[in-house]
Amino acid sequence: MSEVARSTIKWLSIYVFLTLLPLGIALANPPAEARGFWVEAGALLGLLGLGVLAMQLVISGRHRWFAPEVGLDNTLQFHRRIGTFALLLVLAHPVTLMLADPGFLAYLDPRDETLRAVSLSALVAATAVLVVSSLWRVSVGLSYEWWRALHGALSLFIVAGGLGHALMVDHYTSGLLTKALLVAVILVPLLLLLDSRLFRLLRMRRRPWRVAAVEPERGDSTTLVLEADGHRGMPFLPGQFFWVTLGETPFSLQQHPFSFASSASSSERFAFTSKALGDFSRRLPEVEPGTRAWVEGPYGAFVPRPAESDALVLLAGGVGITPIMSMLRTYRQQGISTPLYLVYANDVWEDVLFREELDDMAGELPLTLVHVLSDPPSAWNGERGYVDTGLLRRQLPVDGQGVSYFICGPEPMMNAAEQALISLGVAPARIYSDRFDLV
Ligand SMILES: Cc1cc2nc3c(=O)[nH]c(=O)nc-3n(C[C@H](O)[C@H](O)[C@H](O)COP(=O)(O)OP(=O)(O)OC[C@H]3O[C@@H](n4cnc5c(N)ncnc54)[C@H](O)[C@@H]3O)c2cc1C
Repeated sequence: MSEVARSTIKWLSIYVFLTLLPLGIALANPPAEARGFWVEAGALLGLLGLGVLAMQLVISGRHRWFAPEVGLDNTLQFHRRIGTFALLLVLAHPVTLMLADPGFLAYLDPRDETLRAVSLSALVAATAVLVVSSLWRVSVGLSYEWWRALHGALSLFIVAGGLGHALMVDHYTSGLLTKALLVAVILVPLLLLLDSRLFRLLRMRRRPWRVAAVEPERGDSTTLVLEADGHRGMPFLPGQFFWVTLGETPFSLQQHPFSFASSASSSERFAFTSKALGDFSRRLPEVEPGTRAWVEGPYGAFVPRPAESDALVLLAGGVGITPIMSMLRTYRQQGISTPLYLVYANDVWEDVLFREELDDMAGELPLTLVHVLSDPPSAWNGERGYVDTGLLRRQLPVDGQGVSYFICGPEPMMNAAEQALISLGVAPARIYSDRFDLV
């Protein structure tokens, strides 16, 4: 079993254990008087949902101690996938109770107990808003920044409200010890959420950065060079990424993830290259050198270990070349004997980022460089079309055993490349993907 698979299983076991803790605490304290099976099942669904939601706060908090070998990108993908399930559980809790015993409808009746009815209705409404805004953010016209702020506030409200509800119902949570344990188990994730949204920004204020240079690139892209301002900077590994905020304060909704594009040899000065896509990235060419920047990271497990591989195959599409540039620039400085293969897919030749530097590197590194264009000029005699099985069979080493594969690019290109590698017999555990769309 690979090391990554072992770590993933370890962290999954920790995750499942922590998620089930509220349920375990409740079951360790069975209620004096048992009700019907479905009523008890409905009640326990609520406690299970509370555990899953509380852990959602932990896994989305970008805590660098949480599953570092798994990589933040994978952890956030997991958070996204588990979110719908968590919210279904929370909604299944009142629905099961009310179907099993319509008497529970009184919980939502303001004439019965106004505060309880209003707060439970607010919790159900907040859950629905959380689902809709997460699944259909773009369709409902919510910018990423406002969605993230809303997501944090709603999550805090739902988990804190859910805890209050569980304590007040007092069915599985009677007894001081049970209450104290449940509060402790849910309070930790709530504090971790506060840490990631508030205290981390306060700590970041002690480590400012400055924009040292702004350079235009091909393909509607811009490189920004950042320099540590009065501290030792941030050591990182090639292939990792960070979050950046530009401006006088780190307290901004505009915090964006980018891959380190420069050599990992320097931790006090690094570069990233951004393609103009939306409001933040389109403004980067106008950023003035000297502008303050705030950096959070490094994150990610998209990090090759060339010494442990017979060869590295790097598959990039468009601006997905950035983490791979960091790898190649680092290897050029440090020296490397592991054979490297880079297949770089773009639409048109004019937009191929760093193409002159890549040509130079093909002369300095044991690098086989293959450009593939979907819309090539008439005189083009290189690869044309998209990354597919035929292209990879032609260009990559025949014996893929001991080779590690790193893919970064647009979603369709990454899916096609992963499928093509698997159909060529590459073990999925040897394929590493870096996705730029976390949400
Ligand atoms: C791990 C990672 C590494 C990345 N590295 C690079 C890189 O090296 N070069 C590059 O050009 N792009 C990179 N991106 C993508 C980059 O973060 C987005 O293009 C940028 O945030 C878009 O912001 P915008 O306001 O200009 O565009 P918008 O139109 O606001 O956003 C376009 C899309 O980008 C995503 N996005 C926007 N803001 C954020 C945010 N704060 N956090 C996460 N996702 C967001 C959303 O999916 C959104 O739909 C990376 C993304 C990730 C997750």
